[in-house]
Amino acid sequence: MRLWSMGRSQHVHTRVIGRLASQPVLHSEEQRNTIAYGSNAQLAAFGSDLKAYAGVLCTDQLHLERRFPVPSVYAPPHLEYLDSGDVVMLNPSGMVNVLYRHSSPVNTILMTERCNSFCLMCSQPPKLEDDSYRVGVILRLLDLVDPGALELILSKADRLLPRTAIHVLTNGRRFKDASFANRVAGIHHHDLMLGIPLYSDIDTRHDYVVQAQGAFEETLQGFYNLARAGVRVELRVVIHKQTYERLPRLADFIARNLPFVEHVALMGLEMFGFTPRNLPDLWIDPADYQSQLEDATLYLAMRGMTVSIYNHQLCTLPRTLWPFARKSISDWKNVYLDECTACGVRSFCGGFFQSATKKHSAHIAPQATLAGGDLRFMQELHGAPSAEGAATRDA
Ligand code: SF4
Repeated sequence: MRLWSMGRSQHVHTRVIGRLASQPVLHSEEQRNTIAYGSNAQLAAFGSDLKAYAGVLCTDQLHLERRFPVPSVYAPPHLEYLDSGDVVMLNPSGMVNVLYRHSSPVNTILMTERCNSFCLMCSQPPKLEDDSYRVGVILRLLDLVDPGALELILSKADRLLPRTAIHVLTNGRRFKDASFANRVAGIHHHDLMLGIPLYSDIDTRHDYVVQAQGAFEETLQGFYNLARAGVRVELRVVIHKQTYERLPRLADFIARNLPFVEHVALMGLEMFGFTPRNLPDLWIDPADYQSQLEDATLYLAMRGMTVSIYNHQLCTLPRTLWPFARKSISDWKNVYLDECTACGVRSFCGGFFQSATKKHSAHIAPQATLAGGDLRFMQELHGAPSAEGAATRDA
């Protein structure tokens, strides 16, 4: 599934953000927030009211110039999954960005692509351009998220979790400024956690991975300032050729120096962004670092820390680690290979990033179906296996 596409634009002079509707809406204020969506035949039902809408997203090619100029994009491929209630942005170039999927249990908001680290394996490479326009886009998006869907999400979250959680991914370095950490703490958000990466117990190794001198010190100061201010933090480690060897030492460092960390996520590589370019420096088959991963995971668990393994397939992990493996890949980029069809543990396995079709472990192999106590244990761990297990833990 792709969250963007390129169609042909007409009369789109500035970014247009709106909620899709494939049926006409009645009130003029609602029309101004709505992008009429469908084939040319479906759009005919909107009649001349169409000129009051924020825009048009037509699944067909343009075949007739409309009688009135309304910002329109025609025939963007690969967006067949769109539906009424989804929120999209039409751009003058014809680019369509999908900002919110009404039917998805997980929606992600990208705050910025500017970053002062330059990680070798970054899946979202930093850009220098000023992307402060995103603030306006996000605020507009919050206006447009379907309150019905939000109610659904909130009522379920209210039942299962007391309130909606916000999980912010950051390199943590900005929090070396204690006053900034205090200001974030001062918001008193009911359920906020910051996910911060640390790649080594050695400063120069961490700085090399993030390609920024001094980053290790700044990140550690950030951890301490946030903890002192009472902000909950998660620690993330991406495992690759530069980090796997010292994983047990890093686990020891975390347990001794950062015991307040609420959750440690040990994560597999995503073949995206900078990773393919730096592959010779990064790639190691996950099957080849299992002893280090097992030592680190079990050590952290024994020290009473909550630890999870993200982005790893069950067939690449020893059985001792299966209870720690999570379905961590966002649904829109989560795939399984042909080999998985015959696998007896597929419903418990998180599968692959779509980009892993380019490169993945050479040890992918269908597993036998679980039975008895093993099956009950995994069922209890995962709940009823379903696509809802996927969440935005991969970024
Ligand atoms: S064969 Fe596929 S579904 Fe089965 S454990 Fe491996 S990756 Fe997961």
